[in-house]
Amino acid sequence: MSAFPALPCFPCPHQSACCGYGVTLSEEEARDLSARHGEEKVYRTRWGEWRTRVRNRRCIFIVNNACSIHADPSYPAVCRAFPWTDAETGGPYEYDQTICPEFLARPELVQIGKRGGTPA
Ligand code: SF4
Repeated sequence: MSAFPALPCFPCPHQSACCGYGVTLSEEEARDLSARHGEEKVYRTRWGEWRTRVRNRRCIFIVNNACSIHADPSYPAVCRAFPWTDAETGGPYEYDQTICPEFLARPELVQIGKRGGTPA
């Protein structure tokens, strides 16, 4: 059970804003998602990083304001952990949490995220 406050992700009132940039994938996630959903859905950057493609300013797996691979065994670890935990380090999410507009509406969430722990 998560120690963090719930966010209104399903359905997202912010048109899945956090999914506007696609997401980093592990090699295994990229291979599995490619095999199950089509190799055109993922790509490798010139720096060797696997990512989901972006179409119409949303991750290609967003369909009707919802993630179409949420139940997939290879649902990306980065998505699973956002916006609280950095999937690579296991510590607090280190990037811009205001990608989720809920953090602008409820600034106290930013502090909770930075502590990386249980809300007071
Ligand atoms: S993290 Fe924020 S922007 Fe992303 S789905 Fe949840 S409420 Fe929406």
